[in-house]
Amino acid sequence: MAFHWKDNWYFARIGNGAVIIYHKDDHDIIDVDIEIDADSWASIVASVSAKGDTAEAFQEAREFHGGEKCSFCEEKTDRDSGGKLPDGWGKAKGNVSGESFDITFCPKHRKEAEEKLDIIFKVK
Ligand SMILES: [Zn+2]
Repeated sequence: MAFHWKDNWYFARIGNGAVIIYHKDDHDIIDVDIEIDADSWASIVASVSAKGDTAEAFQEAREFHGGEKCSFCEEKTDRDSGGKLPDGWGKAKGNVSGESFDITFCPKHRKEAEEKLDIIFKVK
């Protein structure tokens, strides 16, 4: 679903949080089409914010733009339209004896996530 800004200019989110900006001519044919990856989009948003192009503004823009990030590496992904993570990805969130945890993992870090959760759930 694209957002129509005006004069046939559209903005849409595509896979991995990338943003596509396109323009349609009078015959409804796309004549301009720009794809911007998620981190570049966050840079753009930060740079035009009142805070300006600072590391802090970039981080805020990145978090606001969303997507899930593996807790163990820089891998990022989007949820599908049903709100599900892609195959192999997982998330664990909760509270064990006052300690809260929120772990997201990519397929490569499933083992690390399971080990971390084993430690959290270990009964003392
Ligand atoms: Zn990972």
